[in-house]
Amino acid sequence: MAYESVNPFDNKRDKSFETITDKQLEAKMVIASSCYETWKHTSYAHRRAIVAKAAALLHDEAENFAQIETREMGKRISEARGEVEFSSQILAYYAENAERFLKNLELHPTLGEAHMESSPIGVIFGVEPWNFPFYQLARVAGPHLMAGNVLVVKHAGCVPQCAIAFEKLWLDAGAPAGLYTNLLISHDQSNQVIDDPRVKGVALTGSVAAGRSIAARAGQNLKPSSMELGGSDAFIVLEDADLEHTIKWAVWGRMYNAGQTCCAAKRFIVVESIADKFLQKFQAALSALKAGDPMDENTTLGPLSTESALVQLLAQVDSAVSHGAKIIMGGKRIDRPGAFMQPTIMTDVKPENPAFRDEFFGPVAMFFRVKDEDAAIALANDSDFGLGGSVFTKDTVRGRRVASRVETGMMFINNISWSDAELPFGGIKDSGYGRELGDMGIQQFVNKKLVRTLVAEAPV
Ligand code: NAP
Repeated sequence: MAYESVNPFDNKRDKSFETITDKQLEAKMVIASSCYETWKHTSYAHRRAIVAKAAALLHDEAENFAQIETREMGKRISEARGEVEFSSQILAYYAENAERFLKNLELHPTLGEAHMESSPIGVIFGVEPWNFPFYQLARVAGPHLMAGNVLVVKHAGCVPQCAIAFEKLWLDAGAPAGLYTNLLISHDQSNQVIDDPRVKGVALTGSVAAGRSIAARAGQNLKPSSMELGGSDAFIVLEDADLEHTIKWAVWGRMYNAGQTCCAAKRFIVVESIADKFLQKFQAALSALKAGDPMDENTTLGPLSTESALVQLLAQVDSAVSHGAKIIMGGKRIDRPGAFMQPTIMTDVKPENPAFRDEFFGPVAMFFRVKDEDAAIALANDSDFGLGGSVFTKDTVRGRRVASRVETGMMFINNISWSDAELPFGGIKDSGYGRELGDMGIQQFVNKKLVRTLVAEAPV
């Protein structure tokens, strides 16, 4: 079954859903493209009313949305509530600011007058992951619907109830049929959607493998795409870091969402003189986490999203060890029902170990000691990924200097507050291309049209 809700807290199946037939898919595409023909002509005020209403409903019903998510992919309830609130803020942000972001841009040619106009382009196809089941959807819905496009979205196989709840949100907010369509489709059908001439752009958030496949398909069709892919972010600790402050961010940065965050801290790169102290405190803090029911607010360690995600992560850790890595804590599943993994720290991961270049999507930290700042930057840059990263130092001027030298899409100094509605989010290298959120996020799928007025005779 391609779409299945299984609670990873106890691995009990709740519901499963059939993928739709090709005929049903075509019917949905007809409704979406006909909706676009009207929606593209609507005023910003009209769009704003619907998107702001969706934001308000998400806020009002946050508990309900959060519980669906916690049951379906195991996110701790307090984190799920935070994610739903943030998703509501993203929708409200675009409702408020889209018109300003897309207003005509006056140009100053030598002759005549000219401006750039931003117009919608059509049906946009979103393919989204399970790790932030609502935030990921809000990140595409807010900007692209406000820009006058319409959306068809394939969500991940393990969160169909989140996908269905988000589609219903739009209808409850008064959206016309076809403005936001959830598609329970297979990968083959996803290719059909990308090939469909009514679809004019593709936005993926997911793994590198999915990115290669979906970007190639979009490329064959000469369609614009944005790729938000994986990461293996460096968490650089310099010798002058405030250790207490740094450890709190280290734990949060690696363990938030049970470690299943694209831009989580995954490689801890610590300058030699502070490395032992850091490691001892980091290990103590991770050991204090208590596995339990993610619905219980006292739980500090939730399960992974699915049993198969756990099995895959354990295999990755075993492979890293067989290639020479050492485990200094954890490394195994927790002996209890559900998809729980011990917080894990690995050392001695050498460049020839495949793990050195891997993304560990769960509570597994790789720890490296380095001689100094230059060595830390060199190691941070020795990665196929380039999504986020952070540096901890009491000297913020030094922090900014290090940030400039790390080859990545986002750098955080003395924090890893990854995402805000108004700040662009995205990466380079295997972490993908394009940006979501902020002003940049709404510019991805609009036609930037030049309009020039020149009172002149045609050249002969
Ligand atoms: P995934 O396996 O790539 O799945 C993501 C989405 O892509 C799902 O909807 C999945 O559908 C779909 N998909 C995968 N292969 C496909 C194909 N060949 N054709 C059509 N659809 C396809 O990734 P995941 O394991 O769910 O998510 C974790 C990954 O996402 C990590 O690498 C993480 O770093 C990355 N991520 C990146 C960001 C960012 O903003 N950069 C944010 C969050 C997560 P099915 O479930 O049906 O296979």
